[in-house]
Amino acid sequence: MTLALPVISDQMSPPSAPAQRGESSELVDSHGRVIRDLRVSVTDRCNFRCVYCLDPDARFMSKQEVLTAGQMLQVVEAAVELGVRKVRVTGGEPTLHPELGKIVAGIAELGVNDIALTTNGSLLDEHMANALKSAGLTRVTVSLDTLREDRSRKITRVEAAPERAIEAVRCAQRAGLGPNKMNCVVVRGVNEDEVGDLAELGRELGVEVRFIEFMPLDSGKRWDRGQVVSADEILGAIGQRFPLAPVGREDAHATAQRYRFTDGAPGSVGVIASVTRAFCGACSRLRLTADGKIRPCLFSAREWDIRPALRAGAGREEIRKFLIDATWTKQAGHGIGDATFTPPDRHMAAIGG
Ligand code: SAM
Ligand code: SF4
Repeated sequence: MTLALPVISDQMSPPSAPAQRGESSELVDSHGRVIRDLRVSVTDRCNFRCVYCLDPDARFMSKQEVLTAGQMLQVVEAAVELGVRKVRVTGGEPTLHPELGKIVAGIAELGVNDIALTTNGSLLDEHMANALKSAGLTRVTVSLDTLREDRSRKITRVEAAPERAIEAVRCAQRAGLGPNKMNCVVVRGVNEDEVGDLAELGRELGVEVRFIEFMPLDSGKRWDRGQVVSADEILGAIGQRFPLAPVGREDAHATAQRYRFTDGAPGSVGVIASVTRAFCGACSRLRLTADGKIRPCLFSAREWDIRPALRAGAGREEIRKFLIDATWTKQAGHGIGDATFTPPDRHMAAIGG
């Protein structure tokens, strides 16, 4: 019997960008957008099963499928050589990765001085926060969708106390990390009645709470437009309790539109309105998944597999060319509003949010 071996088809590598791009010192897509921000998903595994992200029976990548820390760093190095200035380490739950400190230190050694971590906060204690700060981490974003214990259990489908996530932010602050943020996905019928309370928490902690519109990236593919609570609704509800004034985006490419409290309280509110106020035109992001796929967009239908090249010992030139070519294929927009929109096969935890 002959065993069928996996075929590494040409389709796994991006088509060559126009010749002049091949010599580029930057990552530029065919719409003229320049990539400055790389999101690295170090694992697709997670200790939570958030209802809007990961179903209880979701399948995780095997160890063999995941890139080594060294391979991830090779990609980051090439991206940095091509102008990436900001790296966000994410997952899955990145704090589950046994070599997270090594990965962060490796990124810092490449001269990146903006290294952020997105985490559910469950494992981010004093010790980890200090260790990551020493490794070169700059700041953290801790996700928290509710302040109620019973609701937290329903959303995360584990015993996740909201107080733990709040303590994770405090640990990050005490370790000297910052500016730290909180992420909150708002889903209709789940937690939209808490946006004011979560904004209040931001005031108490002195951090930005970023409210994210529910995107069609859940592993169960049950997303429905009716469950999206729009940025307008979120801002309206918060504004009734704490009047807000816009302060604009952190930079031209930032995902969140920001608002300060007009009474001068610390902290701020951000909205990531990917569905109702798409910001694709200003996107400067590229993604590396834990199994070595380069994704030009969260919603890319096509992704490019750099793992075979890395495993075959690719040099810097080859990795750089791969990134240049993959970037060129970045789509103009995610098209969530289009009648023809289909969510990507990969869910959020396997992409890296
Ligand atoms: N596990 C970490 C966490 O939860 O912060 C990092 C990975 S998680 C995929 C990154 C961010 O994506 C989190 O803030 C999470 O709330 C958000 N997210 C997950 N699924 C989403 C969805 N369907 N729509 C919008 N945001 C989502
Ligand atoms: Fe895990 Fe984060 Fe997805 Fe929740 S949002 S299931 S914590 S990866």
